[in-house]
Amino acid sequence: MTDEKGYIQFRCEWERASAPAGPLVAELIEVRNHLRGLGLIGVYPNGIGFGNVSARLTGHGFVISGTATGGVQSAGPEHFTEVVWADVAANALGCRGPVAASSESLSHAAVYGAEPAAGTVIHVHHLRMWEELRGALPTTDPQAEAGTPAMADAIAVLLRAGVPDGLFVMGGHREGLMAFGRTTIEACERLLTAWSRTASAGRGHAAPHSP
Ligand SMILES: [Zn+2]
Repeated sequence: MTDEKGYIQFRCEWERASAPAGPLVAELIEVRNHLRGLGLIGVYPNGIGFGNVSARLTGHGFVISGTATGGVQSAGPEHFTEVVWADVAANALGCRGPVAASSESLSHAAVYGAEPAAGTVIHVHHLRMWEELRGALPTTDPQAEAGTPAMADAIAVLLRAGVPDGLFVMGGHREGLMAFGRTTIEACERLLTAWSRTASAGRGHAAPHSP
């Protein structure tokens, strides 16, 4: 099935399972809740959540905060799921956990696929950072929209060209930025270093939009 723009519709094969566990998940929860407190992950007045964090698992796959969890103030393992396979061309993934994975999980998968050193990926929304850093930092093709196979492809292209600071702007996803690092701490520091430079003057969310 394709949508009105001719994209293949996102498909999530979700197997309900117990929450992912372990020290990596605990670290992710801590970082996620910190970013939620800063407003980099959250929910728009229209109820649509934004922002997600993930960590690569040994072998293949990754654990990621689930769809529609942005509004949760204090997330726990029950808000995370394990992506066991991802197929960008098919716009599809399989996950197991108490929540389903969002279409933006394919953007995370693109980072892990193109950047073998990446152990964590963080996706946040922040209008001021997005406006100030767009074009100043590596920026994905503005034609590629949020949560689409085109975005995943644009991310792969960008990473192959090099993203030295582990932080890039999603050109076609208003407010969207992504950070990655070998560890959760490294990815978070890369993001917050840029955030503290641009965001201390204000929060900067615009009118609600989707996703
Ligand atoms: Zn987003």
